[in-house]
Amino acid sequence: MSTKTIGIIGGGQLGRMLAMAAARLSYKTLILEPQADCPAAQVANGQIVAAYDDPTALAELAARSDVVTYEFENVPVHAAETIARSVPVYPPPKALEAAQDRLVEKRFLNDCGIKTADFRAVDSQKDLELALGEFGGKGVLKTRRLGYDGKGQRVYRGSQDNTDGGFAALGSVPLILESFVSFAREISVIAARGIDGTIACYDPAENVHRDGILHTSTLPAAISAETATAAIEAASKLLDGLGYVGVVGMEFFVLPDGSLVANEIAPRVHNSGHWTEAACVISQFEQHIRAVAGLPLGDPIRHSDCVMTNLIGDDILQLDTWLARPQTLVHLYGKAEARPGRKMGHVTELVQSN
Ligand code: AMP
Repeated sequence: MSTKTIGIIGGGQLGRMLAMAAARLSYKTLILEPQADCPAAQVANGQIVAAYDDPTALAELAARSDVVTYEFENVPVHAAETIARSVPVYPPPKALEAAQDRLVEKRFLNDCGIKTADFRAVDSQKDLELALGEFGGKGVLKTRRLGYDGKGQRVYRGSQDNTDGGFAALGSVPLILESFVSFAREISVIAARGIDGTIACYDPAENVHRDGILHTSTLPAAISAETATAAIEAASKLLDGLGYVGVVGMEFFVLPDGSLVANEIAPRVHNSGHWTEAACVISQFEQHIRAVAGLPLGDPIRHSDCVMTNLIGDDILQLDTWLARPQTLVHLYGKAEARPGRKMGHVTELVQSN
């Protein structure tokens, strides 16, 4: 068996966990990331320190890798396409296109037969006022591109809100207004598709956000078997629709009647799937490596109920408490400095074995 190299664009904690999973299956990893000594490079075989769209760096990454993947969805599409001319890039660059722009994403989901919130493109203050008028003054205004963890958003809760200036307040960039979804809970599905088209889905997780950032993922989610099946079916449709290879994270709102509204997709391993490393034999990270390397997918079955909690900023000060907790897996990301809102690590506590 010759050792193959998986190139990873992006050097954060997701790249780090992918590199660790790759090493266990005897793959080498090479990280492309402008920040030296990034979390991923600390555990990988090498790093190219350069911008994600640096043509020389992209050529080097392609030359030194057998397959290339990525750990964040804002990889420039042209960079992924450039590499794909010499080595396979998984998930396919088309998935980046679908995930980078909320308007394209919603249209794509609807084309796959997956329900989303109603939405309007907003390219001016006038558009915003018209759209809010159509949605009864309620909605969530979001930047179409580059929003994450609730950043670049503004919530309108009814006519009491002053609509003046919302377009400018979000930077006068292309926006989308989504109708306000009165959901009962939020869930996500982590799903994988192999090169041969096989699909494997993990159980849906129930997610709680704090200040727009994922706080906990709990398994099982408090949803019916029908809702769980519908979420898994939607994720499968999406994967087939994109001819996808790799792991995807798909977030949904669950309405009080149990029906689902898709919120967003992430063409990568996902924070709400970190629990899989403690409560499944095959984690989402190994599943992604298996998929992009052309290995058979692993069994996504969950052996335990669990709660994953993110350690954000000062939460890291509670480390000793978490380390002392039984049945708890602590995972830290190798970041020297804890800043407010910065993901420093996560813990997964097994609640009960199934
Ligand atoms: P997002 O960046 O799209 O994941 O949104 C961040 C959070 O804002 C979500 O997890 C929801 O809690 C809330 N949110 C986003 N869109 C909507 C919506 N259309 N209606 C109600 N709440 C929303």
